Amino acid sequence: MSATHAGGCHCGQVRYECDAGLEDVAHCHCSICRRTTGGIVTTWVTVPLGSVRWTLGRPAEYRSSASCVRYFCAHCGAHLALFTDLAPDTLDLTIATLDDVAEVAPNRHIWVNSRLPWIHLDEQLPEEWEETL
Ligand SMILES: [Zn+2]
Ligand SMILES: [Zn+2]
Repeated sequence: MSATHAGGCHCGQVRYECDAGLEDVAHCHCSICRRTTGGIVTTWVTVPLGSVRWTLGRPAEYRSSASCVRYFCAHCGAHLALFTDLAPDTLDLTIATLDDVAEVAPNRHIWVNSRLPWIHLDEQLPEEWEETL
């Protein structure tokens, strides 16, 4: 997929577009994603930083660790994106906020060292103990 993909938060105050292919899609099991999103797993698509633009509103920022900044809607709280200094040419988008989320297929698990023991999801996909960048 290389068409323009749009997405946004629940309340509609923050919208974005991405021109990149949505091919690197990972279920993240880390405890920081759990605490910041409230979900048991967070699924991210990694895209080139320059392929994403905020088309409506601007997200709030939260530095969740020394290397990561998370972007969310300050009104409805939806988690939209993550930037890490460890991969400064990329941005991660939450696939759940994409308008065409059903067309984006995850292809790996990351940070399975923090995986909850009762999660059974896409068991056939490769697993990374932390994350291989
Ligand atoms: Zn919102
Ligand atoms: Zn995570």
